[in-house]
Amino acid sequence: MCITLNKKIIVIILIIILLLSLVFALPSAFTSTPSYNYIVLIDAGHGGVDGGAVGRKTGKDENSLNLEYAFTLKEILERFNIKVIMTRTTLNGLYNPFSVNKKKDDMLKRKEIINNSKANLVISIHMNSHSLSSPKGSQVFYKEDDHVSKGLAECIQQIFVQTLPDARVAPSIGDYYILNCTDIPGVIIECGYLSNQQEEMLLLTESHRQLICYSIFIGVLRFLSV
Ligand SMILES: [Zn+2]
Repeated sequence: MCITLNKKIIVIILIIILLLSLVFALPSAFTSTPSYNYIVLIDAGHGGVDGGAVGRKTGKDENSLNLEYAFTLKEILERFNIKVIMTRTTLNGLYNPFSVNKKKDDMLKRKEIINNSKANLVISIHMNSHSLSSPKGSQVFYKEDDHVSKGLAECIQQIFVQTLPDARVAPSIGDYYILNCTDIPGVIIECGYLSNQQEEMLLLTESHRQLICYSIFIGVLRFLSV
């Protein structure tokens, strides 16, 4: 009962923030359809032979879950006339099946797509994992000494803190290829821990997926309006 009420309140708050953002922050972004003012590149982490983290309870892997989150975020952004480019749209990795170094080829292909995208920003979607079952919560990572990406990470993390129960209080520096391979501002979003069974079950629900993706969207709007 209490959880349901909290969710309703969160959804209402999100809608209010969203409407305020639309009215005050980004009027120019939505007035000149069908041309796009902004392009967001969404990278669903892992794929193919690299399934990523695996849920302890259900066995659900990052490959498929990241893709579901990526598609949900894509739908939301496109609804507001933001163009979306995705690195992958299937469960397959981005490599030739006969490649001897599939992971390397996959990452090089992602780099190529990102750097040809002309995107304003990159969002790479992941699920976290830990050897212990207790760690939980959403966290955003950005490249060291990249103040623009740090700003994006802070915008998203601040919304997470307001909308998600166990979000970390601040984003962190992360040394990741997908962030280091481009000059386009970008973040890696670890949506939650698949090694925590309680959070795993939450991450698999559509309502939580929508909540995280709307939170990312509002964080992106805030960043673009700065
Ligand atoms: Zn991952």
